[in-house]
Amino acid sequence: MFESLEMTHPDPILTLSEHFMSDTNPRKIDLGIGLYKDKNGNTPVMESVRIAESSIVDRAVDKVYKGSSGLDGFCDVISWLLFRARSNLIEYGRVLSIQTIGGTGAIRLAAEFLKQINPKKGVWVSDPTWGNHIDIFSHVGMQVSYYPYQEIGGDLNFPVMLESIRKIPEGDVVVLHGCGHNPTGFDLSKYQWGAVLEVVKERGLFPVIDMAYHGLANDLCDDVYCVELFSDHLDEMLVAYSCSKSFGLYRDRVGALVVLGKSRDSCVKAKLHLARLARVSISSPAIHGALIVSEILSSPDLKRMWVGELNLMSIKIKAARKVLINEARMQGCDDTFRNVCSGVGLFSLIPVGREDVGMLREVFCIYMLDSGRINLSGVNNNNVGYVVSSIKTLLGK
Ligand code: PMP
Repeated sequence: MFESLEMTHPDPILTLSEHFMSDTNPRKIDLGIGLYKDKNGNTPVMESVRIAESSIVDRAVDKVYKGSSGLDGFCDVISWLLFRARSNLIEYGRVLSIQTIGGTGAIRLAAEFLKQINPKKGVWVSDPTWGNHIDIFSHVGMQVSYYPYQEIGGDLNFPVMLESIRKIPEGDVVVLHGCGHNPTGFDLSKYQWGAVLEVVKERGLFPVIDMAYHGLANDLCDDVYCVELFSDHLDEMLVAYSCSKSFGLYRDRVGALVVLGKSRDSCVKAKLHLARLARVSISSPAIHGALIVSEILSSPDLKRMWVGELNLMSIKIKAARKVLINEARMQGCDDTFRNVCSGVGLFSLIPVGREDVGMLREVFCIYMLDSGRINLSGVNNNNVGYVVSSIKTLLGK
């Protein structure tokens, strides 16, 4: 049976990471996979996570199953983390969360749920977007279309984006990056979010907000602006939340799908349906990472420590952007890194072609995605000169 299978390609991002790890050149630089890195290029366990984890391990009395919707305490703290400034919505029962396998699991669950409710509706994602959005929604059988976001090498093209969203068929699903847009690093201003909201209301679109970088674009409050704004004016939406980057729990696979509903009753029904879908795919989610997050967010001291660590990460990413731009200015090629100035969060796209990316990897041992996406936290004082001069040499600037 397997003989008849067509060849398929492994995931490009995870494969790139494996290639990087097996590269023995001491000069190698990883600007590829979306991990926060410190100034030495490492991704250490956050101190708040380390403390929470050891206390959980010490207290553990069993490892029995939890239900398909995961740990109730975790679901509650995530709802509060996102809707702290809209606590009335939680109190009215209009917000409920279900635990998922990372942000990916949240998107997948959202996709299956929306397909089940409305099999004929399509989904619209930004061009460009995180590649897995396209794969996940296509996999569940939804027609995936694109609204323009950034032109290659250019700025966020907001008027064109808005016009395109205005033409989306009524009732379709629109996926929006809550903060730290992957891969462009261009986020919408408050005014632009307001304009998108108006169109979403006008067309009766269903928003799915992907929140994978909470706290890493600006800070925990600023980064949920769109969630708060949309929840003030809409009856329903879904938010896919990832704890991978904000808590550094990448391989523990912790996330949540947060439901905003019209009433307590509709939220409860939605959560039950989501739990049924989870039951037939994962049965119940892994609890270890969820316990860590819930321990941190329910202890004032640990939460303070976590917020401090997260803020520091966000500040360091901003500093890395400055370091890169200053170096590019010094080497006279700032035009190539123009987008780095105006972006936020971990990523920027630099205008290099696929072949250039291959050359950077083979000749200079600098790893980035084929799209030219770089992870800013991989840039530091030690490697910035080499990164800029290599790209400059390659592009002949
Ligand atoms: N959404 C976006 C935009 C992402 O960049 C990522 C992670 N790369 C995810 C969702 C998925 O996150 P997780 O690793 O928690 O599954």
